[in-house]
Amino acid sequence: MGNLFDTPIEYLKGVGPQRAALLNKELGIFTFADLIQYYPFRHEDRTKFHLIKELNDEMPNVQVKGAIRKLELIGVGTKKRMVAHFQDKTGEMELVWFKGLNWIKESLKPGVQYVVFGKPNRFGNKISIAHPEVEPLTTKNEQGGLFQPVYSLTEKLKARHLDSKAISKLMREVIVLSQDKIRETIPLTISKELNLLPKSDALVAIHFPQSHEQLLLAQQRLKFEELFYIQLRLLKLKLVRGEKFKGQVFQDPKLLTQFYNEHLPFDLTNAQKKVIKEIYADLKSGRQMNRLLQGDVGSGKTIVAFISALLAISHGAQCALMAPTEILAQQHFNNLSKFSTLMHIPIALLTGSTKKSDRNHIHKGLQSGDLKLIIGTHALLEDDVKFQNLGLAIVDEQHRFGVAQRSTLWKKNQDVYPHILVMTATPIPRTLAMTLYGDLDVSVIDELPAGRKPIKTIHKFDAHRLQVNQFLRDQINTGRQVYMVYPLIEESEKLDLKHLMDGYESVCRAFPDVAVSIVHGKMKAEAKDFEMDRFKRGETKIMVATTVIEVGVDIPNASVMVIENAERFGLSQLHQLRGRVGRGAEQSYCILLSDYKLSEDSRVRINTMVKTNNGFEIAETDLKLRGPGDLMGTQQSGVLDLLIADLTKDGAILEKAREKAIALLKDDPNLEKSENRTVKIQIDAAKKNAMNWSRVS
Ligand code: ADP
Ligand code: MG
Repeated sequence: MGNLFDTPIEYLKGVGPQRAALLNKELGIFTFADLIQYYPFRHEDRTKFHLIKELNDEMPNVQVKGAIRKLELIGVGTKKRMVAHFQDKTGEMELVWFKGLNWIKESLKPGVQYVVFGKPNRFGNKISIAHPEVEPLTTKNEQGGLFQPVYSLTEKLKARHLDSKAISKLMREVIVLSQDKIRETIPLTISKELNLLPKSDALVAIHFPQSHEQLLLAQQRLKFEELFYIQLRLLKLKLVRGEKFKGQVFQDPKLLTQFYNEHLPFDLTNAQKKVIKEIYADLKSGRQMNRLLQGDVGSGKTIVAFISALLAISHGAQCALMAPTEILAQQHFNNLSKFSTLMHIPIALLTGSTKKSDRNHIHKGLQSGDLKLIIGTHALLEDDVKFQNLGLAIVDEQHRFGVAQRSTLWKKNQDVYPHILVMTATPIPRTLAMTLYGDLDVSVIDELPAGRKPIKTIHKFDAHRLQVNQFLRDQINTGRQVYMVYPLIEESEKLDLKHLMDGYESVCRAFPDVAVSIVHGKMKAEAKDFEMDRFKRGETKIMVATTVIEVGVDIPNASVMVIENAERFGLSQLHQLRGRVGRGAEQSYCILLSDYKLSEDSRVRINTMVKTNNGFEIAETDLKLRGPGDLMGTQQSGVLDLLIADLTKDGAILEKAREKAIALLKDDPNLEKSENRTVKIQIDAAKKNAMNWSRVS
């Protein structure tokens, strides 16, 4: 947008310094452009008048024309209220006020025609509206007004008389000034084909639509634009990177073949083979790999990571695998150590709790290049971790890392960026993946290793605990092990910790002859490891824990997962936790325990878990329940701060936007054609204040 749009909001007629400060602070509105793009979240339909006899209490706000027959003060004390008997030619209803009674009494006159607006309620067979808006009927409002925009505003703003009406007045002001200066941003061929409103029409109509249909068109148009440009930027980035960023060529399959022939402990699934082929093709292409590996819990991403590492190591390069928690890093280290020892590959673990002397040793090994495979937590990102030649960086369970942290990995190599493989813990809904990782190539492992029995998931109420305990006892007697997970969140940490300890004690009481482990985040790393190891070795049969075991922990003999207070967990978290069982040949179980009283959302979450084991299906439901912002800690990325599009609902628009963006870049990769000039301007402008997220994977 041109200069006018950058004008500080203070200079808009009706704003001034004080209101400007409020708008800055409360809504982040600094300029004319910010104001125009502050879209209403709904509209009140003032286009038509309802007849009183049509009203029912299921209607939203309605507008009625009529006169007051009689005003009366009813009740005493807190029940005191003013009632106006309001009539049109079809019937009568009541208007009721509990506050400002004197003012009502003085300003409203029986016999005068009014326009009334509010939400109808029903008491017995009487329809009433409490605290309606009332205006005298005039020749102007007699025709029926417009759709009135309703903006999301704070109490502070309202207290200073900046309500939806006031904002819409400012909006009219700014629109009058700028309407003929709003530049079109979508190429004509696209907007013609998709029947999109011109931008300036859409911006006016989003605030002040003439009809419901027009409002929908405006929303469609603006949503398309928002998603189209996100996709263009991501795809352009991918394109540029593909051309510009060289990658080391890792084509020698020597170690890979050796590993396949001599040490691979099982047959790879077809999905794993396919994904390894895709990665191999990237690694030998001469371009930097930026690939997202999606696969459900237990689909076997770790072995794929190791095999990829072998390709880099074959050429003398190094590989780093970064995990989000100590436990998970430790676990990867334990598993991969077995393989790397067989393959004579030097490997080490680096986390926050690595001893100083070990740490120095590791730093040296990485810098000299002797150390080939490093597993770790975000400790890997520290400045003094330097590589001789980092060829491949693998990030496991990626959503737990902040974007900034990931970008530092890129810079760990001097002349050529390392190849990047990002692995997610659980599947991501398609709309989210296209937006968060739209600049990455995607590989999907859509098949679980053979012989896995689907986990049986059961919902039980707390009251049936004895029955559950009996079941656990039977399972333990046949040699199985049990996880018992308690919620622990920061906000109620103390209380949660107490529940966990109480739970631990009552488990010990209920199973006096069974060895029980306990693990939670407040324990020292050594103590945690000690308990995990005991459980892993089968010395303890029950593991009482918090969600520290959520990611990655892999103990095939543990075949029962009990989740306490299941209603307090998010859906993807429940799925993650359940993924800890079902890894061996035995039938596995997940038991969700809850109170009788459940919120609607909790019920949906629990039912979804009982109904399906499919991570993609679960992710979709989770997205619908929580919205994209809360999902997988994506808030921090900023990518999902969308002005108008909603990834839970606008999947179809997103698909179209991506399709059009791909077609456009295919036809005109450098945006040189005259019909794409508007796109180029837009992209260049965005580049100036480019957010960092688009640079990193
Ligand atoms: P995730 O994708 O959740 O990270 P893991 O890599 O931890 O899954 O693998 C889960 C379990 O399945 C591990 O015990 C692993 O050794 C095993 N596994 C992986 N691939 C196969 C396969 N092709 N056949 C049999 N077991 C496999
Ligand atoms: Mg894993």
